[in-house]
Amino acid sequence: MKVWLDGKLVDESEARLSVFDHGLLYGDGVFEGLRFYGRRVFRLDEHVKRLFDSARAILLKMPWTHEEVVGYVLDTIRANGLDDGYVRLVVTRGTGSLGLNPHLCEKPSMFIIASTITLYPEECYRNGMPVATCATRRPAPAALMPQVKSLNYLNNVMAKVEALQAGAMEGVMLNEQGYVAECTGDNLFLVKNGELRTPPVSDGALDGITRQVILELAERESLPVREASVTRYDIYTADECFLTGSAAEVIPVATLDGRKIGETCPGPVTARVTEIFHEETRATGTPID
Ligand code: PMP
Repeated sequence: MKVWLDGKLVDESEARLSVFDHGLLYGDGVFEGLRFYGRRVFRLDEHVKRLFDSARAILLKMPWTHEEVVGYVLDTIRANGLDDGYVRLVVTRGTGSLGLNPHLCEKPSMFIIASTITLYPEECYRNGMPVATCATRRPAPAALMPQVKSLNYLNNVMAKVEALQAGAMEGVMLNEQGYVAECTGDNLFLVKNGELRTPPVSDGALDGITRQVILELAERESLPVREASVTRYDIYTADECFLTGSAAEVIPVATLDGRKIGETCPGPVTARVTEIFHEETRATGTPID
């Protein structure tokens, strides 16, 4: 596998960063995860924009332009000869001293991995996935801005461990007020009386690109949809629930905390949303060639 690292496509065994990189020492950096389908990169521009916004929010000055980053992603996919897969794009603060001060870091590093990903077993896409509420909360916006896709994922990792220990595959994370924010690596939607609902970003969710695509497609298809606060009660009593993410795509939720959600899983709205999402991934995207 060839990895793009600071301007060069190198063998994966050569793709190394310094132990003094603040990305490693402090989780000081930002990242993106995106998909390509049939040699077309899905929502590439949106992902690169979010990467630049995340970097800007943490005062990390990107030494590359938007267009350059787009080109590097395409170069990396081409170099690995893949038709379908997943790209991980990471920008670290760079090599610095052992102190926190990011201004002492020389220059950011960027690496791009093009590979494949299977986040959840196929069975979960067919019959739904068990999820559990985590005791670990999403950090308050005053602690860590939830829109920033930063390398500091320990909060999510701990929440994921809780979900796994509860016998579930993904964890629902609440904000400080007890409202549902999102899951550890996915956004959440529910369906009640034919209407789709997802927590607003202001409730602590990452502004997921798949979430945005679903909002867009629902409007296009005239499916009623609303961004509004969600409680666990709303999920327990929902007709359907599903999660979205670049890696997970659209995945139905069968149970929350061992309680069955709705009559059938996936329910009709989830099935329709999944179908139109797949159509969109097949019909759009930036060509690799
Ligand atoms: N929430 C979190 C915490 C995530 O890490 C991700 C991405 N894995 C998502 C939501 C989904 O975002 P996107 O649709 O942009 O991949």
